[in-house]
Amino acid sequence: MKIRISCSIVFACLPLIASASGEGELLGYDSQAAGVQRDWEQKFQDGISADNIRENMRRLSARPHNVGSAYDKDNAEWILAKFKSWGFDAKIEKFEVLFPTPKTRVLELLEPTRFRASLQEPALAVDPTSGQTAEQLPTYNAYSADGDVRARLVYVNYGSREDYEELARLGISVQGAIVIARYGEGWRGIKPKVAAEHGAIGCIIYSDPAGDGYFQGETYPAGGWRSKQGVQRGSVMDTDYPGDPLTPGVGATTDAKRLSLAEAKTITKIPVLPISSGDALPLLAALGGPVAPKAWRGALPVTYHVGPGPALVHLQVASNWDVKPIYDVIATLPGTQDGDQWVLRGNHHDAWVNGAEDPISGQAEMLEEARVLGVLHAAGWTPKRTIIYCAWDGEEPGLLGSVEWVETHVAELQQHAVSYLNSDSNGRGFLFAGGTQDLGVLVSEVARGIRDPETPFSVYERARLSDIAEAKSADERADLRKRQDLPIEALGDGSDFTAFQDFAGISTLDLGFGGEEAGTQYHSIYDSFYWYTHFADTSFVYGRALAQVAGTAMLRLADAPFIPVDYAPQAEAIGKYEDELEALLKQKQDEYTERDLELREGVFVATVDPRKPLIAPPVEPVPPFMSFAPLKNAINALQISASRYSKALAAYRAKGSPLLAASALKKLNADLLRVSRAFLNEKGLPERPWFKNQIYAPGAYTGYGAKPIAAVREYMDQRQWLKAEGQVPQVAQAVANAAANIDQAAQDLEAALAP
Ligand SMILES: [Zn+2]
Repeated sequence: MKIRISCSIVFACLPLIASASGEGELLGYDSQAAGVQRDWEQKFQDGISADNIRENMRRLSARPHNVGSAYDKDNAEWILAKFKSWGFDAKIEKFEVLFPTPKTRVLELLEPTRFRASLQEPALAVDPTSGQTAEQLPTYNAYSADGDVRARLVYVNYGSREDYEELARLGISVQGAIVIARYGEGWRGIKPKVAAEHGAIGCIIYSDPAGDGYFQGETYPAGGWRSKQGVQRGSVMDTDYPGDPLTPGVGATTDAKRLSLAEAKTITKIPVLPISSGDALPLLAALGGPVAPKAWRGALPVTYHVGPGPALVHLQVASNWDVKPIYDVIATLPGTQDGDQWVLRGNHHDAWVNGAEDPISGQAEMLEEARVLGVLHAAGWTPKRTIIYCAWDGEEPGLLGSVEWVETHVAELQQHAVSYLNSDSNGRGFLFAGGTQDLGVLVSEVARGIRDPETPFSVYERARLSDIAEAKSADERADLRKRQDLPIEALGDGSDFTAFQDFAGISTLDLGFGGEEAGTQYHSIYDSFYWYTHFADTSFVYGRALAQVAGTAMLRLADAPFIPVDYAPQAEAIGKYEDELEALLKQKQDEYTERDLELREGVFVATVDPRKPLIAPPVEPVPPFMSFAPLKNAINALQISASRYSKALAAYRAKGSPLLAASALKKLNADLLRVSRAFLNEKGLPERPWFKNQIYAPGAYTGYGAKPIAAVREYMDQRQWLKAEGQVPQVAQAVANAAANIDQAAQDLEAALAP
């Protein structure tokens, strides 16, 4: 989702132009160090081999390697040996986590006809690993509650809160019903959560061909899209906190204090099961009731009805609720000069099945980065800061490996961590960069220097031009053309950056290429080496490009005399998030005022077909005006401080980027290291205390994507306006703290430059 960039405070527009460094400059480097750095970076980029990435993928995706499987552990040990052979100081950190696996899965249509769902993805002769049946996890949703229920079926579209409002207008309740929702539009765990909140007793999630099947393109194995038998496995953990459900907030070490299963808040309230479009078709075909609203219809060859019934469904789900070991591989290349500052990099290694794309396309390239860093090390290069590569286990069930590791090491991380760079699945096409915008100038500088493998552009230019092509307005296009840095989209959760950013307050980047794969087999047995090498980044040139971008960013972060951050894009983004809160309030005030007027005028009675009755929307009280003043004042201070730091950077460059005194660098780095931590509040979000970051967090009812300033925004979305306003001072305080830290850094840099 792209949002128009606005400058609510005129002053804030200045650093937008001043922030990106000029040609030949490297943010954070004196001119002499920059020259040396460029040589090492060139060697690094030249050393990356697409063939090695392919061979890493062949090995790591050769067998199913979910949490608790033999090959998961085998992969971790193989990765460990690789890191060691490349000169890293590497070890495995083991945790013990709750990981349910299926014991019973039944889905039957009992009325008006009988049908039993296959719940199977058949092996394909052409795809050699698809037949490794004995090692494959069956199709299921992890952390579904156990249950055995029989009820009428209701189709709920994506199963969002808005979808249930629409159902209410059709006069349909899901109380006591089993719902069937299609995949898409946010985190799958939201679907059973919202269904249970509305009184449903079971939830089925299916893959509609409109989303990732034959409506999009040829299906597997003729093409790359999901076939009618393909199923998306996945976790349905609730959104209170990620990681092991039994050890919220602390590492799941052997001796950790654990909740009982009954106490764990993140297990669903009702049984959930994912199915293929082939299994869904007879169920949807057996629904009566109103025809589904236009936007709810998918691409199955049936008229979509909402129900309830006459379809009567039996759903039974039971799991083995075992605690299983997970194996994080942590590999360190100690820094020489500023070894107590850590630059971290991670990608998970566990998959639902073979996981060639998710996550091995990312893991395979990350390992190639580490190999070439080892080659550089052997040739005489040593990082200034300590580099830590992390191959996480247990990401798929709920970010288990990274969350438990961060929870275990949070005190050290908050003292030492400069940044965390994440990747996960990689495809082909356009560079995506999400994260905290203080790293936006750095990643843009890096991306300008990497050639797109299939077009004449740099990966930076290609991403920028695609943003322009997708822009919704002339204003947005004009803003994009003016920018000298890639817009960095805020992240919520959905991969291993979550604990670093949302819990520990560490600057974060998430990188990958995508947009031009010929399909997806997300979380299916068909996400295999055969599939990937026929339909995704078939020649691994985008794997190579990602290794070049991510590895160069790691080198740049690890070696810079002072930490290469620029806060102007971040201050601008946070200003935009606040603008969005005000715009949302205004929009809701206008919407409810208009709705009230139309109800009184009789618009609804007059326009609804009397033979297809529709219940008028409820009268909503018009939201009161809210005061955002403390937040606006704090953001103003942030923008002034960020601008001051950007100007100090410009002054540094204007002086020819001189070598700074060691004592000045030490002070400056210490101050820069503190800034991103200032966005935390130890109390966390009002109803999700695990999430400490006051700017970056996922939505409680959307998941994946960011809901910036969630403390305020979440209450606004729940129409609790006074509670929302009550959160403003707390967020403002965090922003003001960050502003003060940036101001201190600016003062340090100015002092270092003073004659
Ligand atoms: Zn993944």
